[in-house]
Amino acid sequence: MEKKIKVGVMGATGMVGQNYLRLLADHPWYEVSYVAASPRSAGKTYVEAVEGRWQMITPIPDNVKGLIVGNAADISAAKGKCSLLFSAVNLPKEEIKKLEMAYADQGFAVVSNNSAHRHTADVPMLIPEVNAAHAEIIPQQRKHYGWDKGLLAVKPNCSVQSYVTPVYALMEKGYQVDEMIVTTLQALSGAGYPGPSALDMLDNVVPFINGEEEKSEIEPQKILGDIKNGKFVYDESIKISAHCNRVSVIDGHTACVSLKFKGEKPEISEITKIWEEFSSVPQELELPTAPEQAILVRHEADRPQPRKDRDEGKGMAVTVGRLRKCNVFDYRFVGLSHNTVRGAAGGAILMAELLTAKEYIK
Ligand code: NAP
Repeated sequence: MEKKIKVGVMGATGMVGQNYLRLLADHPWYEVSYVAASPRSAGKTYVEAVEGRWQMITPIPDNVKGLIVGNAADISAAKGKCSLLFSAVNLPKEEIKKLEMAYADQGFAVVSNNSAHRHTADVPMLIPEVNAAHAEIIPQQRKHYGWDKGLLAVKPNCSVQSYVTPVYALMEKGYQVDEMIVTTLQALSGAGYPGPSALDMLDNVVPFINGEEEKSEIEPQKILGDIKNGKFVYDESIKISAHCNRVSVIDGHTACVSLKFKGEKPEISEITKIWEEFSSVPQELELPTAPEQAILVRHEADRPQPRKDRDEGKGMAVTVGRLRKCNVFDYRFVGLSHNTVRGAAGGAILMAELLTAKEYIK
């Protein structure tokens, strides 16, 4: 790329926002030129705004330290400073809906981690290894809203890729999945900073995350669905029952999955081979953030584990293991991915790279 694309991060002071700044520090295509957050942070330099709450283990990147934090609600402050905007703000859903639409309306390519637009009719919800083709809805979206350069694309929930990517790899080879029971063990960073209190979490498991089970059950149906007559048709043939738990892990969402196939089912050796050989659009296009190996198979009896496996592929790979027969369904396995990288900032950067490669973002 001759000239880097200027990008803004909205919600830049938060858990996901900090990961964006860390991951974009040396990006070959993108350069962070604008940051925004709440009115509490607006007007401060970035360093001042995150004083005492920078959560990354690497230092604040030099290129953002002195940026003045804008007020996310003030779209005019972002104008001329960036054309691509990553959105990760904690606001009521209706406010996020309006705000993201307003940015796209003003010509920004908005790539969002928020759940607000995940089921908006012509907004793609992308896992680039699974449904890159859904990006083809963008011309229609632009026509619908009268946007020239603006666009809106969203990332699914932070735990979804831990089980949807391995399941998609099997479906792509013709093995139709019928039913799944998914039990997630979700990290504390998934709740943002400062997250649940230590007294709630230490020595404990909390078997409830507001809204998470519904997202875990329904979002895969859109991702695995098709575009027909210009509309997303959800794949309702896959029935998912989810149990979502918050556990005392810093980063890395684990999903314990039992699944049943419709019709022919593969042998264990074939499933392993399909996963090990899985490669998709981001790998073919050699997108900068794409992991070389999208799915990593661990053969040890006690893996994957969050602390040992979440950083595989720079936090972008999904690690699977414990594949075995199930006494009730057909098979069981465990999937794991880094929730604030693949599940949030990294996954959204990969989406933006896909949209850039397809020339929707320039
Ligand atoms: P967080 O750590 O609580 O950060 C929230 C961000 O939103 C901060 O930058 C905050 O700015 C900003 N904000 C709060 N109120 C605002 C307002 N009134 N106007 C503008 N900005 C405001 O949350 P997070 O974990 O980064 O999550 C951000 C979003 O990403 C949420 O929608 C979340 O559901 C989603 N998400 C999170 C994860 C994850 O793993 N953590 C994964 C996927 C998606 P101040 O610092 O100025 O308050």
